[in-house]
Parts: sequence; C-alpha cells; structure tokens
Amino acid sequence: MDQAEFQTAKQQMLRKQLRRRGIHDPKVLAAMNKVPRERFVSRQTHNEAYADRALAIDCGQTISQPYIVALMTQALELSGKEIVLEVGTGSGYQAAILAELAREVFTIERYAKLSKQAAATLSALGYRNVTLMVGDGTLGWADRSPFDRIIVTAAAAEYPPALFKQLDEGGILVIPLGGRDYQTLQAIRKAAGRPRTVSLSACRFVPLVGNC
Ligand code: SAH
Repeated sequence: MDQAEFQTAKQQMLRKQLRRRGIHDPKVLAAMNKVPRERFVSRQTHNEAYADRALAIDCGQTISQPYIVALMTQALELSGKEIVLEVGTGSGYQAAILAELAREVFTIERYAKLSKQAAATLSALGYRNVTLMVGDGTLGWADRSPFDRIIVTAAAAEYPPALFKQLDEGGILVIPLGGRDYQTLQAIRKAAGRPRTVSLSACRFVPLVGNC
C-alpha cells in the first residue's frame, strides 16, 4: 500500500469501525486519524494495518484492534492534563494515541525487544512525552505515581492491587478482566478510595504475565 491507500484505509476504519460502533469523542477520533498505525505493525502485516482485528507483532504479542484502542482511550476521559501509565507497551501504538491526548505517558513492557522497537518508532514520529521502561507492569511505577489514569493492555483475572494503589483519587483504570480466552473490558474509577466498576465490552487480549 502507498500513502494514499493507507489514508483511504484509515478513513474507512474511522467511519466503519469507530463512529458506527459508538466512538464519538472527537479528540479520540482525531488522535486515531493522526497516528500512522502502519508504522507500528510488522512488515508482514503492513497492508492490514487498518484491518478490523488485532495483528501479530514480535515476541508472540499483538497490537490491539483499532476499535478496542479507541474504546479504551475514550473510557479514560482524557482532557489533556493527565499523567497516564500504560502496562503493555507492545508496538507503542496505544502509547502514541495516549501521547496525543494526555500530558505525559509512562509505559511498561516486559519484553526489551518490543520496548526498544516502540521507543524507536515513537521517537521517529516526534513523541517527546512518552517514557518507556522494561519490567513487570503489575507492580506499576511507584516512583512516578500517583497516576491520573492507568490502562492495562493485557488480560488478568483481577486487577493488580499495586495499580489501584498508584491511581489518584478520581482516577480511572481501564483493564480487560476475565479468563484466558475471553475477558470483559472494565473501567474502574477510584471514588473515595474504593473501586467503582463499569463494564464496557467483551474482548480478547494476550495475558498479563507478572508477579502479582
Ligand atoms: N498496547 C499494545 C498492545 C500490547 S499487547 C500496542 O498498542 O501495541 C500486550 C503487551 O503486554 C505485550 O507486549 C506483552 O509483552 C505485555 N505484557 C504482558 N504482561 C506484562 C507485564 N506484567 N508487564 C509489562 N508488560 C506486559
């Protein structure tokens, strides 16, 4: 595909996969329009960059389906001032979307290879407000906490307690919770120190692998 074809595929993605399914936040749509997803997918799946599904990346991991990226981002209700923690950097695509909509993004990945590639892509695209770390994201990033928002892009049975602890009062944690094959996307708000949960959608993520 050439640039014009990517552009057409992206416009179709915005219309058919996002707007039609209820992604209405103009800022989220603008970010999904701006970030070149083709730069984050592997060479083998280049032509499917805007397809309606997750795609394989290195280390047996996946870049999430565009709709799921948009849905999770919309659920974070970003105004532009927030400090956001992402667990599961993967390709760096979700981090780029967050970088467009928040003040600062911290992102943790367990595979050094993915983190390094994501750092290179984000830097080549000019993102200066993303800080990457290799490590176990279930433990959060205590030094940089509290966070206004936390997004976990890998599936767990329950949310890691350290993440809820590092979430600021009034903050939102978005995470897929459930079994190995099937999960529900949850938005968990910290209200008076307690979790208030809203279920968003069924989903399927690679597992969150950690110590907690
Ligand atoms: N947000 C990514 C999608 C990532 S897939 C993107 O936009 O491309 C989930 C990622 O979470 C994988 O890369 C996986 O290696 C990572 N992961 C799984 N468990 C983790 C953990 N405990 N800490 C950090 N990263 C983890």
